[in-house]
Amino acid sequence: MARRKYLLGFSPARVGEPITYMIVKEFDLMVNILRAEIDERGGRLLLEIEGKPHKITSGVKYLKEKGVEVKELNEYVSKEEERCTHCGMCVSICPADAFEMDKKTYKVHFKSDKCIACGLCLDACPPNAMKLRIW
Ligand code: SF4
Ligand code: SF4
Repeated sequence: MARRKYLLGFSPARVGEPITYMIVKEFDLMVNILRAEIDERGGRLLLEIEGKPHKITSGVKYLKEKGVEVKELNEYVSKEEERCTHCGMCVSICPADAFEMDKKTYKVHFKSDKCIACGLCLDACPPNAMKLRIW
């Protein structure tokens, strides 16, 4: 089982359709709505989706085919380099190994492609260098 977070963007034409219900039913996924900002003019849903990885992939493909804008949440996690003190705190807590300490320079590098947007580093980073900007 895998768990991923996505930000979905709905156009006004898609608002009335039971699209999220369909991905639960058709792809055997569990969906948790973390945040919603949507009305008849369209809007956004922040979802946590849990299920078999290939089913999540199929569900996301279905959403895109239906005209929903889908972005994985890790695309919104970033590191403000000027704030980072390279303390290494995030290296030890990140469950996805998304940080690497350069053994020569002792600089910490963020690998966003590995991030699963769990949010742990956002709370743990002493100078607040890790950011999640979605809304
Ligand atoms: S916890 Fe924050 S300050 Fe420390 S290395 Fe990570 S991003 Fe940089
Ligand atoms: S949000 Fe979670 S997975 Fe992503 S870098 Fe921070 S600790 Fe790692």
